[in-house]
Amino acid sequence: MSKPVPPHADAPEALKPSNFLRQVIESDLAAGTYAGRRWGGSPGDGAHHAAGKPDLATIRTRFPPEPNGYLHIGHAKSICVNFGLARDYGGVCHLRFDDTNPEKEEQEFVDGIIDAVHWLGFDWQANGESHLFHASDYFDFMYRAAEYLITSGRAYVDEQSAEDMRLNRGDFGRPGVDSPFRQRTPEHNLQRFREMRDAMHPDGSMVLRAKVDMASPNINLRDPTIYRIRRAEHHNTGNKWCIYPMYAFAHPVEDALEQITHSICTLEFEDQRPWYDWLLQALVDGGLLHAPAPRQYEFARLNMSYVITSKRKLAALVQEGRVDGWDDPRMPTLVGLRRRGYTPESLRLMAERTGTSKAGGWTDYSTLEGCLRETLDGSAPRAMAVLDPLRLVITNWGALMGGDAATDDCSAPVHPHVPALGRRHFKLAREVWIERGDFEEMPVKGFFRLFPGNRVRLKYGHVIECTGCTKDATGAVVQVQAALVADTKSGTPGSDAVKVKGVVTWVSVADSLEAEVRLYDRLFTEPQPDAGGRDFLASLNPDSLKVVRAVVEPSLANARADDKFQFERHGYFVADRVDHAPNRLVFNLSVSLKDSWAK
Ligand code: ATP
Ligand code: MG
Repeated sequence: MSKPVPPHADAPEALKPSNFLRQVIESDLAAGTYAGRRWGGSPGDGAHHAAGKPDLATIRTRFPPEPNGYLHIGHAKSICVNFGLARDYGGVCHLRFDDTNPEKEEQEFVDGIIDAVHWLGFDWQANGESHLFHASDYFDFMYRAAEYLITSGRAYVDEQSAEDMRLNRGDFGRPGVDSPFRQRTPEHNLQRFREMRDAMHPDGSMVLRAKVDMASPNINLRDPTIYRIRRAEHHNTGNKWCIYPMYAFAHPVEDALEQITHSICTLEFEDQRPWYDWLLQALVDGGLLHAPAPRQYEFARLNMSYVITSKRKLAALVQEGRVDGWDDPRMPTLVGLRRRGYTPESLRLMAERTGTSKAGGWTDYSTLEGCLRETLDGSAPRAMAVLDPLRLVITNWGALMGGDAATDDCSAPVHPHVPALGRRHFKLAREVWIERGDFEEMPVKGFFRLFPGNRVRLKYGHVIECTGCTKDATGAVVQVQAALVADTKSGTPGSDAVKVKGVVTWVSVADSLEAEVRLYDRLFTEPQPDAGGRDFLASLNPDSLKVVRAVVEPSLANARADDKFQFERHGYFVADRVDHAPNRLVFNLSVSLKDSWAK
């Protein structure tokens, strides 16, 4: 589901595809919806912000991950949307750790999220302040808001069993039934809620519910639960609380305390919007929050073919050892994509190109690969690499070049269109490595490379004529022989006089370097591996990784981890950020030169 193509993610405004979020923001800015807002310098209640300075941020958005895993490509989309809109309109985007669940937060995931947002090129520092927040810092306010809802008659403690509560909620065709506890007085509810807080009741014995409308056609409005009892230690607040807010209650409050203007989420939350508005309006009415309250906007989540974007399922791949960790280059995590050779530019381009709309759909994996090719093509140094080496001997080398040990200096531009990057140097010699696939003893029609009697050019070198091959006992070709054609060296006068149809890449046996090359393919064989509740592990691609011993040209001796290259004729490769070292060259295939994914 690709959108019309802009030239670049960082292109000027006029060239960007418009989307409904931009239209909403632009009309809010034109109408001055948020013009008079004040900002207290940190998140806080209505009084805190009212006492602050006029807000320098035109709008505020937020990216609110739960720190329970590594971020994936879907999160990259959300980061680019939220931070991108704030940047484009003079606003600020907050990084908020949504840590209201008292599950053990892992510092590893917090650090990973911070790294990922920075790596993508975004930052939460603005107007001299850091806008990195933790939702668990708002527990005190949330509790106060809950008491306000109780005292104003908008919430009650429900002591029905979980089963009764479920039955009485009704369903799409059947309205809910009021809880027998719904008509308690505010005083009684407050007393019970404080008992909940004071650990006087067991986990699960009662909950606090908002009193909205049990007959609403929107099930989210049928008295949603807003607090539950849960004796669990929290990484930030320790054992201070044994009651915790539900996500549907916590999230709007977090947005409001942070003065978010445009709270952007995915379509699954569309039916939550009336509740979001109901809750914040109640707290504005009570004077707890500053008006105007944040507003929620939903767009279609990113779904990409052959990719899973559920942290739980990605965690299963890691835990069951199906991949080599969160940063396995086949993983759609940002650490995995980075190790695979993806650049921040390519992911920002993907986010821009897939657009934000209300219409769901699938983005073809080839869209992502196209973004990477486009962002690497203009800058990645070129190099020759032979991934499946076969020895070729130039039998008349000694006679023509002044001895079998003679070498011939050859060079090529580092980048064909960027002369400033200079030239790379390598030697042609009597024995070179060629791709096994570039020789056929019995050529099929249309094969223009090496076969007995045919002439080809060794790229950047001379023309050779194939004279034969040697096979081992099993019939496998182990060596190819050829004769050099005199006066055909690339770049010398008259070298074009001999016309050839085929050009082959090569490296000399004498100056080539050995490298481990990891050839990655899609992780799943099915385009929608987890659709319809399917077991995604059943469609794992057994051939998603092939490791080969390759030989590469000497210029790659200087490659450092994360350096990206185009291996001529093959594709884009990156020096592996974990295993590559000066004495152990390891390259990962990022993307092939041509699209092999198209349907
Ligand atoms: P998961 O189900 O994998 O845990 P999540 O959405 O629960 O994902 P969060 O950490 O809560 O993960 O997500 C942080 C933000 O990223 C949310 O605002 C969410 O809407 C957004 N997000 C997650 N996945 C996608 C996606 N595929 N496309 C767009 N936005 C996404
Ligand atoms: Mg979540």
